[in-house]
Amino acid sequence: MIKKSTNLAVISNNTFEATKAVNINHYDISSALQTTLEFNQLIVIFSNKIVSMIPHSAFSYNNEEFEIEIKSGVFTKHSCSYALKIENQTLGKLKFMRNYRFSAAEITLLESLLCCLIYPLKNATLFHQAIKMSYIDSLTKVNNRSSLNDTLNRNISLANRQKQNLSIIFLDIDYFKVINDAYGHTCGDKVLIAAANLIKKSLRCSDILFRVGGEEFVVVLSDTDLAGAKLLAERIRKTIESHTLAFDMATIKITASLGVYDLHENDTADTLIRNADNAMYKAKYNGRNQVCLAG
Ligand code: GH3
Ligand code: MG
Ligand code: MG
Repeated sequence: MIKKSTNLAVISNNTFEATKAVNINHYDISSALQTTLEFNQLIVIFSNKIVSMIPHSAFSYNNEEFEIEIKSGVFTKHSCSYALKIENQTLGKLKFMRNYRFSAAEITLLESLLCCLIYPLKNATLFHQAIKMSYIDSLTKVNNRSSLNDTLNRNISLANRQKQNLSIIFLDIDYFKVINDAYGHTCGDKVLIAAANLIKKSLRCSDILFRVGGEEFVVVLSDTDLAGAKLLAERIRKTIESHTLAFDMATIKITASLGVYDLHENDTADTLIRNADNAMYKAKYNGRNQVCLAG
């Protein structure tokens, strides 16, 4: 009886030590992964932490949702790759490479260690989704006012550095209050969604659309001069004017007034918006449903 219990104690002790050893790795990796919510850093930390246990010469990570593509090291023939997922949330594709095969034991260990990466990746996904959402207008799903300043500051620096043009269009729907008054606020909301879609339809991939007020939109046009911006503004105006919107039994036609301005020396995000806004007011003053330039 005593002997048995001594044996048991030894077995139990060995088992405890072994478990502890595996857990120490998991604990160490998990702790390191808790220090960041950036995808790039998570993957680099994970690769660094496992490289002594599972040697690899390169890794790649792709995350389509956030348009992330990371590659590091020397790409070779042998690889093991994982499409990481939790519940219905995809977390990206991770691949490790080296010039000799990964053994079954290494793959088992890697899969066990990958568990440490799943929740940090999920947290990073939730964090970046929340950031993305805070920049999106909940009604029209285009960018909102909060993201306009960041975008303009970034584009102004880039334009100045690379000696490129930068233009903006300020658009305000004409007599929008009349639509709300005549058909109700819900219909007004649908008109705003339709207007945002019509503007989007007229843009190029590099143009960025923002809803900056109730029925006011801004388009930021990188690498575009005043003449190009004016042409685009006219195209948007015509697209809006030529569509008939149907809601319940009503058919509604809308028009918009647009102001165009291009970046001058010493312009800031504020002066860009203000000049385009002034040009838009000129279009209102001149009779609406038209495009005006600043100045
Ligand atoms: P103007 O041609 O001078 O621009 O006239 P307007 O009627 O378009 O401009 P005004 O500024 O007088 O009215 C804008 C209206 O937009 C008033 C406001 O109730 C409405 N509005 C603002 N935000 C929303 C929204 O999210 N949904 C709806 N349905 N209406 C909104
Ligand atoms: Mg307005
Ligand atoms: Mg208006």
